[in-house]
Amino acid sequence: MFQKVAIIGGGAAAATLVSELLERRTPKPLHLTWFAGSAQPGRGVAYGTPSDRHLLNVRAASMGMFVSKPGGFLEYAQAANPNVKGSDFLPRRLYGDFLRSRVDAAVANARQFGHDINLVPFCAQSLVPSSEGVTIGYGEGEEAHADAAVLAIGSLPPRPLAGVQDAALASGRYVTDPWPYLAAAESDDRPLRVLVIGLGLTAVDVVLELAARWPRARFTALSRHGHLPEPHLAAASAPSDDGNDLAEQMRDDPNIRTWLHRLREATDNADDWRTVVDSMRPHTQGLWQELPDGEKARFLRHARWAWERARHRMPPKVASSVASLEKAGRFERLRGRMQAVSLRIDGDLDVVRRETGGDATVTETYDIVIQTVGLNTDTLRTEHTLMRQLVIDDLVTPDRMGLGLAAQPDGHLLDGDGKPRGNLFAIGSLLRGALWESTAIPEIRKQAQAVANMLVK
Ligand SMILES: Cc1cc2nc3c(=O)[nH]c(=O)nc-3n(C[C@H](O)[C@H](O)[C@H](O)COP(=O)(O)OP(=O)(O)OC[C@H]3O[C@@H](n4cnc5c(N)ncnc54)[C@H](O)[C@@H]3O)c2cc1C
Repeated sequence: MFQKVAIIGGGAAAATLVSELLERRTPKPLHLTWFAGSAQPGRGVAYGTPSDRHLLNVRAASMGMFVSKPGGFLEYAQAANPNVKGSDFLPRRLYGDFLRSRVDAAVANARQFGHDINLVPFCAQSLVPSSEGVTIGYGEGEEAHADAAVLAIGSLPPRPLAGVQDAALASGRYVTDPWPYLAAAESDDRPLRVLVIGLGLTAVDVVLELAARWPRARFTALSRHGHLPEPHLAAASAPSDDGNDLAEQMRDDPNIRTWLHRLREATDNADDWRTVVDSMRPHTQGLWQELPDGEKARFLRHARWAWERARHRMPPKVASSVASLEKAGRFERLRGRMQAVSLRIDGDLDVVRRETGGDATVTETYDIVIQTVGLNTDTLRTEHTLMRQLVIDDLVTPDRMGLGLAAQPDGHLLDGDGKPRGNLFAIGSLLRGALWESTAIPEIRKQAQAVANMLVK
């Protein structure tokens, strides 16, 4: 058992692991050091939004924090409002409140099991694992020691896309990270022209929020295929079956072309295609591990976009708000690829885009361009201080496909020689290369439970 454990990260994953550990009776008391980056951790990127327009994309009944209590969030929400149903898509702000209340309760109860926790409101800046334990650097040259450490840092800060001129970045009109921008955006009555690059759930959140705060603004979204995420059904529908047969057929022939064919067959025979996609959820991590590297690369190049829009769906209310904006002529979608963004003399941005399926380029002018191109998990090319240090010092191995860090499926990180480190773990987005499906609460709570088991066994 590791008695002194360092947990690094300030979001839902770290909060879940801390709570898992503190609520356990262990042979010896635990001493946790939580490098949380803030004094009020838990909400992280997803649940830090104060806007009630930003809804969970998972139904309330499935958002519990612990594997042993998947309905925990629903109970919390119903205690405040008995009309809430398990099939509702509730505000992410409320989920942030839930996470904070669970963490506070776990910290308050820790003493009854003899545990203690030291919350460090700084980011961990360096980490050196050795056979004796781990040494973590933070603050103004301070150090802490632990027997083991867990990285729960979410995805890495977004980097600007290729083609964006430095002057455009420096102008503040090209936004690389939408969340701090949304948090600070004030009401504005000007007829702003806004381009959003990318068309996933974050793009939708950005457009809906700014459309409300900027009533005369018009929004354009640019993506390779120009499709919105699919909507959830209004009523919850159970998965078509346990997915075992389909997963078995896929395992027999692990290549993407066959898999897409099998999926298409199954969805053609289902009442609603979503039930088939959902039936795959418990199998996705195992199937991913069986896929040869070349097939994984093919999936990322050709099928990822289609899978993501089917898997990460919009709540029906969000889908209808977007449809209303489109109908009102305030939101349009374009198919293409951004080639260059430059700052004009008048302070606006010129955006050159190439249209999908052709060579033609078009240049258009916008007031603001906001990049929303999905999670950044490229650990080899990042400005994240801790990750840079770990990679440069060869203490971890970047995933070959840019999907986080090389790791065992159970969360053990691999060292520079590809061997598992006994005392260094990760949960969440950094495990995308090992598991693919590794970012949402239902997966994170399982990982937190499994890592907690390894830490205290
Ligand atoms: C907009 C959005 C909406 C989502 N909605 C849902 C949903 O409805 N349902 C669902 O299941 N999933 C949803 N997700 C998936 C989401 O990723 C997870 O649910 C969860 O929030 C991930 O938490 P995390 O702690 O891994 O990452 P994060 O939320 O990114 O938290 C990581 C935290 O660690 C901090 N950190 C980074 N480096 C350090 C360091 N060196 N030291 C200390 N702290 C550090 C970061 O600043 C950050 O606060 C959503 C994701 C996003 C982005």
